[in-house]
Amino acid sequence: MSAVTAGLVCAHHHLYSTLARGMPAPPRTPRDFGEILELIWWRLDAALDLEMIRWSAMLGALEALENGTTAIVDHHESPNAIEGSLDVIAEACAEVGVRSLLAYGITDRHGPEGARRGLAENERFIRVGGRGLVGIHAAFTCSDESLEAAAGLAAELGVGVHVHVCEGVGDREAPRRLAGLTRDDWLLAHCVHLPTDHELRGTILHNPMSNLNNAVGYADPARFANPVALGTDGIGGNVLEAFRLAYVMQRSVGVTASPETAWSWLANGWHLVPEARDDEVTWSYEPMDPWHVAFTPGIRPLRVKVGGEVVFEDSRPTRVDAAEIRARAREQAVRLHARL
Ligand SMILES: [Zn+2]
Repeated sequence: MSAVTAGLVCAHHHLYSTLARGMPAPPRTPRDFGEILELIWWRLDAALDLEMIRWSAMLGALEALENGTTAIVDHHESPNAIEGSLDVIAEACAEVGVRSLLAYGITDRHGPEGARRGLAENERFIRVGGRGLVGIHAAFTCSDESLEAAAGLAAELGVGVHVHVCEGVGDREAPRRLAGLTRDDWLLAHCVHLPTDHELRGTILHNPMSNLNNAVGYADPARFANPVALGTDGIGGNVLEAFRLAYVMQRSVGVTASPETAWSWLANGWHLVPEARDDEVTWSYEPMDPWHVAFTPGIRPLRVKVGGEVVFEDSRPTRVDAAEIRARAREQAVRLHARL
């Protein structure tokens, strides 16, 4: 083991949430996860326009790169700016120098027409060559027709589906509703309340910090037979932090747990975006092995190469101006927060 690894993969992100920090308090304090969605995220996503999405993605991609993450598996929603939104995110990531695998999360929250437009955005983006999956918000916000349409489109396009599954107790019906639709190339985010004995196929995306923050419970992903990968669910792009947290959470329910398990989840990101294996991150610490990294906070990349090109060096991105991205993102955050 040395101080060099492949580029890390964030297997579940929401780049649109980067500008949420510092947003005005919701009209009342959410009392559970359902209210967190209603009072925070579903007000925020409805207020997004393409310019906000662009700078939110630029900042999110920058922060990923600053943490050695060279590939982002993103799940996007912006019900009042659907068409073209995936292009905007793909371009922002490419400009910063980060790989992306995108999906628009369809939902019937805004009627069947909203779901149809979301599905059309996935199809348009993938058919013109975008690197994408078909997105579903979650079974509990979709009709059976929408779930079947998304699964059918994904099969037709030869890609997987990226969907939230049993994040909160309100989505307990998901395993029954998705039964028979899932395939091995599906990505199942969270699965906190998914029974251990279930029939869903796909990789389970574990997001320890988000689950703690939303008080939804511990997914305990080691109990599943499915492969597991690590994400942030929109709370930054630091996957080493997700690894550390995944390890101590596992340890909190079983003192014999080894960091090698959470490390294998980190490594499973490379099955989702194999190109990131060719990227190269030189870290401030050596050796980069699970037993060291689990107990060494603050490890930073010194240099990041993506596709052979140095895109981060001397604490700075090489393709873009970090200070400008932060300034433009701040301007867009002000516009966004004023709409809430
Ligand atoms: Zn999510």
